[in-house]
Amino acid sequence: MLRSPSPTTPVHIELDRDHRSLLVRWQDEHESSFIWDFLRGHCPCANCSEEAGKPGQLSALPMFRPGQTDMVDVNLTGRYALTPVWGDGHDLGIYTFRMLRAICPCAPCSEMRSGEPPRQRDDW
Ligand SMILES: [Zn+2]
Ligand SMILES: [Zn+2]
Repeated sequence: MLRSPSPTTPVHIELDRDHRSLLVRWQDEHESSFIWDFLRGHCPCANCSEEAGKPGQLSALPMFRPGQTDMVDVNLTGRYALTPVWGDGHDLGIYTFRMLRAICPCAPCSEMRSGEPPRQRDDW
């Protein structure tokens, strides 16, 4: 018996520098293309995201300096997450596969979320 394909298990990950995006193909044959700026804006690390009701760095300063949204590398963290290395050296954001799939910006996924990216960390 084959297990059903997992929507949160990537089978292919590609850093597409020409289009400044990160491509992820999932086991259920869905494909996600994440623009770097979008991913940096969703950085889940404590510095960038909101903590204890206080706005994080990114909410206080929504402007990025040049290079900050350049993904220079991306590392696999365990079997559950990707950790991008950004042009300014920032590499603290651990993007779990569940989170990435949850914020997939493609049209069908956005429609399913009625256009709103999920804010609830518990959903990731
Ligand atoms: Zn961060
Ligand atoms: Zn999608």
